[in-house]
Amino acid sequence: MKRVNTFEIVPQTKNDKECLLRLLDASASLWNELTYERRQNYFGDGDVWDTSEYRGRYNGVVGSATVQQVTRKNSEAWRSFFALKEKGEYANPPSYWGNEKDGRELRTCIRCNQYTIVWGKRSRLEIPVGQELKDEYGLGYHERLRLEVRGNPKWDGKQGRLELEYDEVSDTFRAFQPVTEPDSRLDSPLASEEAALDVGANNLVACATTTGNQYLYDGRALFGRFRETTDEIARLQSKLREGRYSSKRIRRLYRQRTKRRDHAQNALVRNLVERLHDEGVATVYVGDLTDVLETHWSVRANEKTHNFWAFKKFIHRLACVCEEYGISLEAESEAWTSQTCPECGDHKETVRHEDTLTCPCGFEGHADLTASETFLRENSDREIRPMARPVRFEWDDHDWSGKPHPHESPKEVRTNPQVASVGR
Ligand SMILES: [Zn+2]
Repeated sequence: MKRVNTFEIVPQTKNDKECLLRLLDASASLWNELTYERRQNYFGDGDVWDTSEYRGRYNGVVGSATVQQVTRKNSEAWRSFFALKEKGEYANPPSYWGNEKDGRELRTCIRCNQYTIVWGKRSRLEIPVGQELKDEYGLGYHERLRLEVRGNPKWDGKQGRLELEYDEVSDTFRAFQPVTEPDSRLDSPLASEEAALDVGANNLVACATTTGNQYLYDGRALFGRFRETTDEIARLQSKLREGRYSSKRIRRLYRQRTKRRDHAQNALVRNLVERLHDEGVATVYVGDLTDVLETHWSVRANEKTHNFWAFKKFIHRLACVCEEYGISLEAESEAWTSQTCPECGDHKETVRHEDTLTCPCGFEGHADLTASETFLRENSDREIRPMARPVRFEWDDHDWSGKPHPHESPKEVRTNPQVASVGR
């Protein structure tokens, strides 16, 4: 079974960083050139496989093994496109790494037997580069580029093709290393816990686990930044000369806004899934999309859910990372869970105001945390341990940092009127 290790790559010198960036840029250029030619052939009724010789031009920078590998990856993408089409399924022909507006996405892929990772106190990755880069950056003829690795491998096994990418916003390099695990190690019997997620607009995710943990990812600060950028875009648009609809600066702001959102979203998914994996969670329940959109969110929340939080993208991302960790993601109807009182089970008389759910029976608690727990109880057959104090995470532009939620359990909130305004 295939698993993927992900980790950060940290060049130790400016020289190394520049060298790595050149490698990724040239690889992306190769990919795009090849994609362009194949698309021209495809749309012009030519033969996709009939391409000119690229190797020569990129060998010096990228190295011949990696030129081959990028070419192979591109061919694989076309083959799977044709396979889907043959089955009558909807598919798009392979596309570029990056686009004209944003520039190239700096990426590459390296053949399984061309790189080495040594794990230890100071883990190191060695990758090949072309002779031209070696000369320019002072590497010997037989030398490879050595880079520091941060993080630990989750999986062990036969290593596959390594993928490297540069994230411009956070100025970090990430690596994805697929490994094939021996079958005997599959599905650790330890992993059988479950978790349920409540996905919302203000609190992006509220999560409850059968191990008795609750997590809350607060999206307000993040949304505030998103909103500021939106306002700035509107301001700039109002100043455009007549007949003009956009400008370089406006396009840059849109781009920045999306990249920030994606960065925070990806980081949230990783933070959450890694946490759940460590706790031995094997199944995650998430609300069924159509259901969620109808029952959960008012029109007012639309800007947040569609533009800002990009719900579909979030679920897709979540599914990918869960798969990577061997966790199964199940979409279940969550009708009423956000309005149901956990004490008396009523859902008609309860009132949800901002972050608080109140019930005539006297219950008052954090609406999203309560919903995630109710959702978990509805779907899980396992014994659910008593909930510990929730941990709240806030986005600080790089990471989701957590602290204990200011309020104890919902019951304590109810008995102490001074802290009745749950949330902030
Ligand atoms: Zn009640």
